[in-house]
Amino acid sequence: MTASGKDKSDLDVIIIGAGVGGLYAIYRLRKLGLRIRAYEAGDGVGGTWFWNRYPGCRCDVESMEYSYSFDNDLQQEWEWPERYGTQPEILRYVEHVAERFDLLRDVQLKTRIKKARFDHGTNLWTITTEKGETVSAPYCIMATGNLSTPKLPEIAGIDDFQGEKYHTGLWPKEGVDFTGKVVGAVGTGSSGVQSIPLIAKQAKHLYVFQRTANFSLPARNAPLDPEKERKHKAEYVERRKAAYGTPFGIAGYPSPEKFAAEADAEERRLSYEAKWAEGGSISFLFAYKDLLTDKAANDTAADFVREKIRATVKDPKTAELLCPNDHPIGTKRLILDTDYYETYNRDNVTLVDIRTNPIELFTKGGLQLTDGGTYDLEAISFATGFDAMTGAMREIDIQTGKDNCIRDKWEDGPRSYLGIMVAGFPNMFMVTGPQSPGVKSQMILSCEWHVDFAANAIMHMRGKGLTRIGPDVKAEDDWVTHNNEVADSTLYPLANSWYMGANVPGKPRIFMPYVGGVEAYTNKCNDVVDNDYEGFRLE
Ligand code: NAP
Repeated sequence: MTASGKDKSDLDVIIIGAGVGGLYAIYRLRKLGLRIRAYEAGDGVGGTWFWNRYPGCRCDVESMEYSYSFDNDLQQEWEWPERYGTQPEILRYVEHVAERFDLLRDVQLKTRIKKARFDHGTNLWTITTEKGETVSAPYCIMATGNLSTPKLPEIAGIDDFQGEKYHTGLWPKEGVDFTGKVVGAVGTGSSGVQSIPLIAKQAKHLYVFQRTANFSLPARNAPLDPEKERKHKAEYVERRKAAYGTPFGIAGYPSPEKFAAEADAEERRLSYEAKWAEGGSISFLFAYKDLLTDKAANDTAADFVREKIRATVKDPKTAELLCPNDHPIGTKRLILDTDYYETYNRDNVTLVDIRTNPIELFTKGGLQLTDGGTYDLEAISFATGFDAMTGAMREIDIQTGKDNCIRDKWEDGPRSYLGIMVAGFPNMFMVTGPQSPGVKSQMILSCEWHVDFAANAIMHMRGKGLTRIGPDVKAEDDWVTHNNEVADSTLYPLANSWYMGANVPGKPRIFMPYVGGVEAYTNKCNDVVDNDYEGFRLE
């Protein structure tokens, strides 16, 4: 790190974050001969997989897919033990990649960035760390993650609670032993649904405080079938290429051929049954063409899952509470679980409905509901999610002039061109930024795509002797409009999801990810580049 006042441009590119995207940026940009450094808040690399160490944490994309594609030896040699990777396994993989490609020498750990300033005179970004150190470079890459700003509920007394308190996104490295304890679990999204069955196995009693029931499908996790692995590896290179031509950036799932109404009820049931038995969410959502665009079609799939919940959970009242009824299936991230619904058949688990009877306040020894009912708790696991997609960048004070900061610009929701750059913020690239398919795709593939885009743009600029690149306001406006139109042509906006910013009080309700699919998106990016960076201003 250059001390303030010294040579201000000793780097070519500053990278903020050393998760999956930031690490690939180091690899890619270093290979181009650029001087780079990544700054990472954690004391280790891996981003999401470094922080989310809660019990049961596992990726919902199959392990043969959820990995880097940039090095064929890496993808051939790495062996995944299970169909879906666990957090420790994925972290071990990311750490292996960092070591294998000697990436750590360009990472400064335990360094949170507080400020980023662009100087229009010098065309330099200067970033400032929490400790007041500064460093400057012409380009800055925000690899800050989409789900990296954990959020605790804004409920009175939360700091008064004297028992153990954990957030799934900030889980202690040494793990937590709930044995013999009365535990509360707040939040029933992916993190809650994955952790609840394991916490229940340890706790003396587990109270699950549920505000909204979510749809969850069985993951059907198992040891990786060696034959499947062999076949997959033989086709790895082709599969990775093919992935860019799919909606979610994952090859191998045949596109649906029929609309739901083209099948009769029995045919649909058999089709959903087969998908349920197979496990996984993409296959299920690919049962029919219109599951995410037509409510009546969607209802057929949602009803099927509700019936499964009723058939699994023995207590009918609990089963009914667990049946999601406020959003179409798939419009919130579809969860994959192992024994989630079965967990409610245990004697030591109680589901508490905080939709009709919300948590009023936390107390020294537990919590109190609005009707006055109290729960004594020794520990609470908060799986209450994140200030998603915009939170991490808004936490950094990013400015390019007195009246131009990202917090203000995104006051009414994010605005970007392709989720890659923001008008008025030149030379700042985002990795899987809002209005890109990032979170609606195989994330590692999208990270590689965005870093490659930035790397190519930077080299293009250098080759032409240009120093400043950023989107035109009109191109950005058009992309935002397109993003919203595509979202509005689907059922996604019907859910109060983190895609909509709905989980953060006061956050504007704007649908943030691009849901036109990876294929349409990457085609658009390629067209932009082929047309001389159409929509960008290069100076
Ligand atoms: P989430 O999906 O946002 O779920 C948060 C949960 O906390 C929801 O049930 C929410 O209820 C509840 N909650 C939030 N604030 C609350 C409050 N004030 N009072 C009561 N309940 C409250 O967060 P997440 O489970 O951490 O998952 C976030 C995303 O991370 C996932 O959608 C997924 O993309 C990713 N993820 C993936 C995996 C995987 O790959 N398997 C695992 C974990 C996470 P409401 O629904 O009513 O807001």
